[in-house]
Amino acid sequence: MSSKLNKNQLEKFSRQIILKDIGILGQKKILNSRVLIIGMGGLGCPVAEFLTRSGVGSLGIVDHDIVGLSNIHRQTLYDEKDLGKLKVKAAKKKLVGINSKTKISIHNFKLDKKKFIKIIKKYDYIIDGSDNFETKFLINDISFKYKKFLVTGAISKFDGHIFTFDFSNKKDPCLRCFYQEETISDDILNCEYEGILGTIAGIIGTMQANEILKKILNIGKNLNGYILIFDLLNLNFRKVKFDKRKKCICN
Ligand SMILES: [Zn+2]
Repeated sequence: MSSKLNKNQLEKFSRQIILKDIGILGQKKILNSRVLIIGMGGLGCPVAEFLTRSGVGSLGIVDHDIVGLSNIHRQTLYDEKDLGKLKVKAAKKKLVGINSKTKISIHNFKLDKKKFIKIIKKYDYIIDGSDNFETKFLINDISFKYKKFLVTGAISKFDGHIFTFDFSNKKDPCLRCFYQEETISDDILNCEYEGILGTIAGIIGTMQANEILKKILNIGKNLNGYILIFDLLNLNFRKVKFDKRKKCICN
């Protein structure tokens, strides 16, 4: 950990350093943090943007898709000039422009178990911004195995879900304890068919970034053991506790 912040860093991050709960020590924690974001779509874009702005030291971004015209209403790092470009490349360009000191590593592939295991050791915090349950369960299982802190987001129509899992302890439930694989269908997450209002992605993605920053700083409370459900059409927010399932992989 570098011992002193330079003048530029002190100025750049002054509005968060001034917060009693953060200070110089907290800013150093942010500068030394390593976060992996899986999926650079509607959730991943605001997460990456806010973490980069906050000064996160090392950010990995995973996606294999290219920017399409129907992405732009909610995927805030891309504009019309990026159409047809790889999302990870277009995102990196924007992020480097925001904060050139954040090290952005691009992982241009569709996530699978082998590839995930190869990169997960380089990161302490994992963000799930994926849009299908196969990937969500994979991220859950490997993050559990490697005892990471995981923040999962899910969005559809006007609704959002957010979870945090601290797999460094064995007390809390995992994603499989809540969503039971047999009863899940990917329709509930599929923007292509179900639709999504752009702001919903922005709200849930920003919340995910907020949960990661709190964990890095070790302040406030996380959602471990709860799901926060957002009905953003009627502005109902529900925090629901759930327990470990007996036969789950997390036992
Ligand atoms: Zn579980």
